[in-house]
Amino acid sequence: MSNPKLTFYIEEEVNDYCGMCQQLGPAQFGVKMHRNLPAQVFWVRASAEGLPKDKRYTKLCSDCLFEAHSSNEVEAIYKNDMHSEDPGDVLWDPYTSGMFFIRSNLKEKSSDGQKNTTE
Ligand SMILES: [Zn+2]
Repeated sequence: MSNPKLTFYIEEEVNDYCGMCQQLGPAQFGVKMHRNLPAQVFWVRASAEGLPKDKRYTKLCSDCLFEAHSSNEVEAIYKNDMHSEDPGDVLWDPYTSGMFFIRSNLKEKSSDGQKNTTE
């Protein structure tokens, strides 16, 4: 059984907790991050086959976006760059996004699936 791949569209920054890693209760998806951490959170629209269009908004922090970026459940992540001359959606690149990351280490690409986090 395979789900249709998701496409994410990063929209504006929101002053809230990440809906994936900072939700209350037990962690449902991977690593959970403490709410005191100053995560950078964005409205993200998810689209996939079978999902109603424009109805799938979620709040994700930069780290969850980074993890989604390397997930094989996510087809692509776009960012609407308001400062760009071309106002269309552009592919999001965490390395040039200017976002800050707490869990993710941009220096190493997670190609082998091994995490080299420092304690
Ligand atoms: Zn998160």
